Amino acid sequence: MYYSLSEIFAVGIGPSSSHTVGPMKAAKRFVDGLGNKISRVADVKIYLYGSLALTGIGHGTLNAIAYGLLGLTADHIDLTQNYIQHIMAEKSLQLRGEKSIPFEFNTNFILEKTVFLKEHSNGMRFVALDSIGTILSEEVYFSVGGGTIARQDEMSNKIERDPLDVPYQFSSFAELKQVCEKNHFTLSDIVLANERTIHSEYEIQSYIRKVAQIMQQNIDDGVTKKGILPGNIKLRRRAPEMYESLLKRFEHNFDDALYILDWVNLWAFAVAEENAAGGKIVTAPTMGSAGIMPAVMRYYQRFAHKKAYYDEQADVIYLTTAAAVCSLYRTNASISGAEVGCQGEVGVACSMAAAGLCAVMGGNINQIENAAEIAMEHNLGLTCDPINGLVQIPCIERNAMAAIKAVNASRLASRGTGEHKVSLDSIIKTMYETGLSLQNDYKETSLGGLAKNVIC
Ligand code: SF4
Repeated sequence: MYYSLSEIFAVGIGPSSSHTVGPMKAAKRFVDGLGNKISRVADVKIYLYGSLALTGIGHGTLNAIAYGLLGLTADHIDLTQNYIQHIMAEKSLQLRGEKSIPFEFNTNFILEKTVFLKEHSNGMRFVALDSIGTILSEEVYFSVGGGTIARQDEMSNKIERDPLDVPYQFSSFAELKQVCEKNHFTLSDIVLANERTIHSEYEIQSYIRKVAQIMQQNIDDGVTKKGILPGNIKLRRRAPEMYESLLKRFEHNFDDALYILDWVNLWAFAVAEENAAGGKIVTAPTMGSAGIMPAVMRYYQRFAHKKAYYDEQADVIYLTTAAAVCSLYRTNASISGAEVGCQGEVGVACSMAAAGLCAVMGGNINQIENAAEIAMEHNLGLTCDPINGLVQIPCIERNAMAAIKAVNASRLASRGTGEHKVSLDSIIKTMYETGLSLQNDYKETSLGGLAKNVIC
């Protein structure tokens, strides 16, 4: 199934696409659906299930839902406003910005930590009640990864919505390759042709520029912002000191053949720390893994392009190629850490970035497939075990490791003939099966792995 650019690269508030972006959208959709009944609402209860209940506090889910109940969207929220402090101080919330109800985080949210709904482990139930406790509206939503949500009645197997009406549908890389060969298209051409049936050329180019600009802005912000990240780990931001150290080493004409690695690490850290701080981020494909695509993008902008000047067209090729690869993961597997572990987040981001970089560097379709496949092959089995439920350890460092891995996967593929034994389709299938067989402890519940063994 084809997933549009705006579904794959969605703008949202960090630190987690499934735990902040999705829940915020669900809360907004719930309050919008109240219509005129909103004037009779006296209370709203929000039940969080499974992974959302277990890691929701650390992942910022409760705040995100409060934003949604206020009627805010990621595009329009002003993060300089102290919405949450205001709710806490007043002990009330302006539902959809128009109806004040009593609201306290510890009573309006109910964390059902031992209940996993059968459809997906990121479940949430919204209940609106009138003054005598009669239910006015009740809806269950799921945050299924990458900021995508589905109401309970919309969940049927893995299809979250009807297919988009586009000329080139595909469900495997083999199909994608056939379409490319038949039409003399690149992967990027297919995505752009599909997007042209949904949006005007101007809208498409503007959206791609906006995505690239936010990604690059996150790097520029992240390398200078100092301080402690939110949460009880009290983790210090590292990107600014990494940046200062790199600049100093340049001043002193340092001689280090691997200095490019330091830059890629820095850029991934910068975005991942911006995300952990709750900044405005682009899902790529999720927020926990949002540092990888921007870091690799900055890598080719600074170090890898072959032209005398940097051409913005490269951003278009990079993002659209990565989007085509992401559609395959979303169709045949999952990009939700709660469903398949971190291989679905960092692993998929690594695969997308490797494919995009290989395309920008002039790789043919076999080499691009190979790059995407190598990148995922060496992320298979990666668990999701964030310490204290925060998208910080191992997430931030993991973004840097995967950005480097994406560059290496692209180089391995580019220097080969494109011939390879393991297809991208088979690696996606393997990733999904591996993810399903992981115990829940390793799927964004913070019950196992590092989250169990490292006490901060
Ligand atoms: S470990 Fe990976 S999947 Fe889990 S929260 Fe961190 S980045 Fe996301």
